[in-house]
Formats: sequence, C-alpha cells, structure tokens
Amino acid sequence: MHSVTMQGQQQKITVGKIVCVARNYAEHARELGNPVPDKAVLFIKPASSILADGGTVIIPAYSSGCHHEIELAVLIGRPGKDIAEAEALSHVAGYGVALDLTLRDVQTELKAKGLPWEIAKAFDTSCPLSTFVLTETVADPQNLRLRLTVNGVPRQDGTTADMLRPVARLISEASSYFTLEAGDILLTGTPSGVGPIRSGDRVEAVIDGVGTLTVDVL
Ligand code: ZN
Repeated sequence: MHSVTMQGQQQKITVGKIVCVARNYAEHARELGNPVPDKAVLFIKPASSILADGGTVIIPAYSSGCHHEIELAVLIGRPGKDIAEAEALSHVAGYGVALDLTLRDVQTELKAKGLPWEIAKAFDTSCPLSTFVLTETVADPQNLRLRLTVNGVPRQDGTTADMLRPVARLISEASSYFTLEAGDILLTGTPSGVGPIRSGDRVEAVIDGVGTLTVDVL
C-alpha cells in the first residue's frame, strides 16, 4: 500500500493522493443516467486504497454491488498549482492501468441523499494499480485502447480518444483546486461497460502500450 512501481526502477514511488474524475466518457455517463458535467466532477481516493501491482481485492461486507471501472492512471512527477493546460503533460512522470472499484449500491444511496461518496470509493483495495511505464514510452495518451475482462468475458472496451476532458485538461483543472505533488496519481474516468464483480472472479485490465493489471476477488 501507499507506493507504486515504475518499470525498470528499483525504488518504489510513494503516493500522496489519488485524484479521480467521474463521468469523463459520455457513454458511461449515459449508462448511469448522469448528465455530462460542465465542470470536472472530482473526488479523492486515499493512498491506503492502493493495491499495487495487482493482487486480491476485498469487497467490504456493507456492499453487495462492487463495480469494476478500468481507467488510465497518470503519475505526477513534478509538482504544480494552477498548471496551464499547455504545460500539463510536462508534469507527468508515467502512465499505468487502474481500477476505480466502486460500491455502486452504496454510492447510489449516498448520491440520492446528497452525501459524499468516500465509503463507496475509498475502501482498502479499491484502487488496484499496475506497474507504471515512463511517459516517453507512451506516444499519445489520448489514443490508447482500454479493455477489461471478468473471468475472460469482455466487459469494457474503449479508447482514451473518447475522454470528454483529455489528460492535460484534467491536470490543469484538478490543479486549480488541489496542489499536485510528485507521487500523486490522477484517474481519468472509465468508458462504458461497468458491471459487478463477485467473490472468486478474476479481473484483467489491459491498456495497450501501458500494461496489464490482474486482480482476484476474495
Ligand atoms: Zn471512475
């Protein structure tokens, strides 16, 4: 927990916070019946939610509806506040594959009451992350195919080309609210096809040119 691995580097990278965006793909916003927002809808997962390099996910007993969300993870390497969109990608150290695991039943209830989502989004093991690759190895972060299978059955298949806010804009917008520090991670939203995972499932998430993340559900 609390740290991630960079391909080819011995030293682990300590993670501060994980800034996440909701509804960053139009199709996914539609499937949950949410309007597409004019401002980024941001929330934070704590570093304690990290499951680095895959492993075993533990769904909390207070939920019976944990959903998978495959997302491109962006590792910040250089700190900044109010980062201009044109400068934003120069703050990125690397990219990885993330799962933003979500207790959808709990989240839906909280949303209906106007309450914060943390207990649905920030539980231990709610943020599995792959090993990261250096920025230079990814030619275009807005042209990456994301695919997720559960027990070998395809569930999500999208492209980062469909993000409503591209990575540079997300960094810029997030840094207008929160100082981004080296070791912080941005999760950039999920394409459509989210669905439940259950005890005994094996989830495989692949972003072409970035990596593969495999988790088992306890
Ligand atoms: Zn998400």
